[in-house]
Amino acid sequence: MADYDVIVAGGGLAGTVTAQAISYYSNQNIRILVVDRNSEFMPGRKSLAGWVCGDACSKEAVDFMAERIKVNWTRPEIEHDVKGVMAFSPDKKTAIPFDGAGFMLNRQILPETQNKRCKDMGIEFEYEINLTGLVYQEGQVVGVQGIDNKTRQAFKHTSKIVVDATGVTSMLRNGLGNSTKVEKRIDRRDLESTGRYIMHFEPGQRDLAEFDPDYCIIHLDQDIAPGGYGWVFPKGDSKVNIGLGVEKSMLDKRNKRLGKKDNVESLMKEYLHRNVAIRDARLSKEPQDINNNSGVFQVSVRRQNDCMVSGGYVMVGDSAWMPKPIDAGGIGPALIAGTILGSNIAQALEADDTSEAGLWRYNLDYIREYGYKTAGLELFRRLVQQMTNKQISYGMKHFLGNLDVESISKGEHPDFSGLGKIGMIIRGAMNKTVADGLRYTSTQNQWLVKHYNDYPKDPSGFDEWSKALHKRLGESFAKVEAFGS
Ligand SMILES: Cc1cc2nc3c(=O)[nH]c(=O)nc-3n(C[C@H](O)[C@H](O)[C@H](O)COP(=O)(O)OP(=O)(O)OC[C@H]3O[C@@H](n4cnc5c(N)ncnc54)[C@H](O)[C@@H]3O)c2cc1C
Repeated sequence: MADYDVIVAGGGLAGTVTAQAISYYSNQNIRILVVDRNSEFMPGRKSLAGWVCGDACSKEAVDFMAERIKVNWTRPEIEHDVKGVMAFSPDKKTAIPFDGAGFMLNRQILPETQNKRCKDMGIEFEYEINLTGLVYQEGQVVGVQGIDNKTRQAFKHTSKIVVDATGVTSMLRNGLGNSTKVEKRIDRRDLESTGRYIMHFEPGQRDLAEFDPDYCIIHLDQDIAPGGYGWVFPKGDSKVNIGLGVEKSMLDKRNKRLGKKDNVESLMKEYLHRNVAIRDARLSKEPQDINNNSGVFQVSVRRQNDCMVSGGYVMVGDSAWMPKPIDAGGIGPALIAGTILGSNIAQALEADDTSEAGLWRYNLDYIREYGYKTAGLELFRRLVQQMTNKQISYGMKHFLGNLDVESISKGEHPDFSGLGKIGMIIRGAMNKTVADGLRYTSTQNQWLVKHYNDYPKDPSGFDEWSKALHKRLGESFAKVEAFGS
């Protein structure tokens, strides 16, 4: 007999939400253990640097979770309300609002609150365990193993299902031994190196393109944040989460172009100092930030793993590469996926079928709710990464600004298929390239969304589906790269 019904590996955001959702959907009728490498007093920390994050999350995703599993986030884990996200073009002449109302979270407090809620639901915890791998029996995952850092002894527990919520660096996924469908490794170019400070400051010049207490600001700029973006997210009238993300090969190109030797840290410092609205900035020493006021970590910007289940194993959050490809927002998808997965796991346990086929429904449910759009956004991201500042400014002003903002606010690929039609005059070779690129990714996106809507209903159709996906993506990525040359 297994020690637990479910072991959740990784007690971060995705892990604790999933544990709560399983508990909710199974009427607290099953035994759940959450295992994390952090101490009880620093729960959910991503690394020694802290809970490195932009801290922004859409209200829609929080509501999605709250309405379904009745977990309500309040203060102090919500630190500040925002009305939306505003993305500025490199020349700052265009600002596109997206994502709607949202929250700025306190990521250090949130896991403390989450763990307390989990414990009230009867969910158990094991702290200071460094997980190194999965335990198998006849091709089925039946538990986890690692080292108990408290005793230096081996740690091993069994369960009917293991939820992998150990984040982007997941060793469990990397070493998964019972699936050819789950992708194990990520392409280096699908990772962003990102860092940020949490700071108090004195107001400088009033400039709502640099700091706005009501809006999360994103700056697209290939010199400041090559292949990524800079952000200024308000945590109050004079408190900010300020940082940026870059893609390594784009940073190398940018350094070569400008004759510089910058890295993420030096770019972050420069980005902070050039901000005219922020003066005398100092790292927050408040107790709720003291272990979390500066740091760098990785985030993925690709579609979710093509298959997120194997026998006895499921993945959620960053371990499944869920952050949205276009803005690296991973909290929303983690809340949505964790909520959905709770229901899928409760059903699989009820049916006493935790095989790959028994857990398959999770792939389908997540795609239907969120995952249908991510491959198209991955392609769109690759296109934008290839563009120069001039091209991005032009595209945002002339093409994006004119669009129906609905698809943008829903986080979908904007529809550019009409570009160049209806009397629209596009002057200049550079701008024609932008229009061609956007039209191209729109067309591919339509195919990709349809392909995801046709995701196989059971594991038997997966290989064919995956082959077609990779063929299309391979061609599209090559084509998009050519737009940049
Ligand atoms: C700089 C930066 C800015 C970001 N900004 C935003 C933003 O503004 N909005 C947004 O929505 N998203 C943002 N993201 C992404 C967001 O932070 C993640 O999507 C989110 O934290 C994912 O949660 P998770 O629970 O899946 O993973 P994690 O938060 O990484 O949690 C994983 C947990 O598992 C534990 N763990 C890992 N390995 C092991 C092991 N071997 N054994 C035991 N335990 C282990 C970890 O210690 C941790 O507790 C940002 C990311 C970065 C890096």
